[in-house]
Amino acid sequence: MSEVLKIEDYKFIIDKINKGNFVFSTSENHLNININNINEIKDSLIDRFKIKEIAYSKQVHSDIVIDFYGEIKQGDAIISTGSKLAIGVFTADCVPILICDYKNKTVAAVHSGWKGTYSNILGKTINKMIKDYKCSSENIIVYIGPHIHSCCYEVGEEIRNKFLEAGFSEDVIEGNNLNLNKCIKDQLSEMKINDSQILEMPYCTKCSKEYKFHSYRRDNKSSGRNFSFVFFD
Ligand SMILES: [Zn+2]
Repeated sequence: MSEVLKIEDYKFIIDKINKGNFVFSTSENHLNININNINEIKDSLIDRFKIKEIAYSKQVHSDIVIDFYGEIKQGDAIISTGSKLAIGVFTADCVPILICDYKNKTVAAVHSGWKGTYSNILGKTINKMIKDYKCSSENIIVYIGPHIHSCCYEVGEEIRNKFLEAGFSEDVIEGNNLNLNKCIKDQLSEMKINDSQILEMPYCTKCSKEYKFHSYRRDNKSSGRNFSFVFFD
C-alpha cells in the first residue's frame, strides 16, 4: 500500500519494500522540480526523509550509465551504493525506473524515454549493477514509475518501424501508439527479472485523474519535471 506524503508544497507517493524506499513526486500544488531549482528543495527532502544526499545525473537522452561518487555527470542512468543515499531521475512522460538490490544496498535510477528504451539503457544499467556492484538478478527489485502510457503516446511511423526492426514484440505497437511499458517488461524478462520483482505506479502522466503529474506532451515547454528517487534506510 502506497503512502502519500505532502511536504510543504510537494506531494509524493511512496512505497517501501524491505528497507528500500521508492518515492515519486506529483505535480499537485506547486511542484515544479527541474534541474534548475532542485537545490531549493533538496534540503527539505534530505531533512524529511532523513537521508544524507540526493544525487542525479545531467540527462541527455543517452544510454550512458554512470556511477555516483559525489559529482553530477552526464548520463541517463545512475548507480550508487549505501544507506541513506537517494538517487533519482527527472521525467515528464519518459519512464523513470528505480532499481534496488536489497542484499547489497545498491540503488539505481534510469531515465528511459523512447531513445533510452530503444537503446536498452535499462539492460545496460542492470548489467553494470551485476558486473561492477556484485548484484544478482534474483535480489533486484525494479519499480516502473509514472510515465506516458500507450493511451496518449502516439509516435511517427519512423519510430514505430525502428522498434519493430529492433526485435521488440509486435504488441509494443498499438495502432499509431507506442507502449513503452511493454518494451520495458520485454527488456526485464530478457534480464531474467521475473514479474514478482517488478512493481509499478499504474498512472499515465498525461491523462491520470487520480494523481496529477508533469507531462511534456500535455504542457509542452511549460512542463515541469517529476522527480523519482530511491534509497535504503
Ligand atoms: Zn494517457
